[in-house]
Amino acid sequence: MNNDLRQQELVDAIRRDLMRRLFGLAAGAAVLPALTPLSALAAGRGPSVPDQKPVQVSEHLYVLYARGGFPNKENQGFFANVSFVMTPKGVVVIDSGTSVQIGEMAIRAIRKMTDKPVLAVFNTHFHGDHWLGNDAFKAAFPEAPIYAHPNCITSIKTATGPQWLEQMMGATEGMIEGTRITPPDHPVQHGQELNFGGVTLRVHHYGQAHTPVDIMVEIVGDKTVHVGDVAMDKRIANMEDGSFTGTFKVYDALEKNAAGSLWVPAHGKPDRNLLVKNRELLGGIYENALKAVQSGKDFEAAKAMVLADPHVKKYANDTVGFNENIGKVTSIAYVEAEQKAF
Ligand SMILES: [Zn+2]
Repeated sequence: MNNDLRQQELVDAIRRDLMRRLFGLAAGAAVLPALTPLSALAAGRGPSVPDQKPVQVSEHLYVLYARGGFPNKENQGFFANVSFVMTPKGVVVIDSGTSVQIGEMAIRAIRKMTDKPVLAVFNTHFHGDHWLGNDAFKAAFPEAPIYAHPNCITSIKTATGPQWLEQMMGATEGMIEGTRITPPDHPVQHGQELNFGGVTLRVHHYGQAHTPVDIMVEIVGDKTVHVGDVAMDKRIANMEDGSFTGTFKVYDALEKNAAGSLWVPAHGKPDRNLLVKNRELLGGIYENALKAVQSGKDFEAAKAMVLADPHVKKYANDTVGFNENIGKVTSIAYVEAEQKAF
């Protein structure tokens, strides 16, 4: 059945119920305060997300590819990949999507592959496209721990949770309605190894990069690392929670500690050269911002230098969000360069 229709039927049923309660019953004064407000009852649920087929990217890792670079009504907020590790004992999810609807779609996809349970979920950081789908997994697999950096858990609980829910509701024009904030509940540390059915996952964290709480999940036997949003494929996002120098530090650490890995981003496709490419683009932005700061040039001059740099230019046409975000990203690089330079 069409979802709009279902929603309309629900509203109609509530209206009928309200009328019956108001006029059918002996409408004593005591009855009225007990009525649930119509707005709360009618608060609906966004439509389900169309089924997607997982793509295998390494021996154990599968990816449900998102549709588009940024959240909107059309993609229903499905703009960050949901990935999962298949093990002999069950499934481990890495990033749960932007909504309960996306989480439910991922569970349907998993159910077509195995009857085994979801054993755990990892959230790579506190941006809503990576954890709002927890709701679906907690409902279906209440025993499964949801792992994240300890400060990611605190942040979602105290500040970023409600902010991201509201922001994604707005961006998708209510398509994610019905999604409840379900924070991660199990902290993990850098270097921690967890074994699921004989498959070892190793957690990496090297300080602030895309956010202060990024974790990267290595599927050790696969020589594969899910890098979250620390690096992206053909996409540039804002860096307002991040650090350029911190990001380069993370790339160096990953290349040292998980050398020769396949890098799997939450936005776009896996690529063995992902860190090299991201370092060139983000490095081109940061180096020019730093040069501008050191020679006393203003932000506009820095932006012109960034746009003229061949290391940046070569990615411009092929990078979703480039024109929209390059000014903002450069301004963040400029501020960071000012802090580092003095
Ligand atoms: Zn993201």
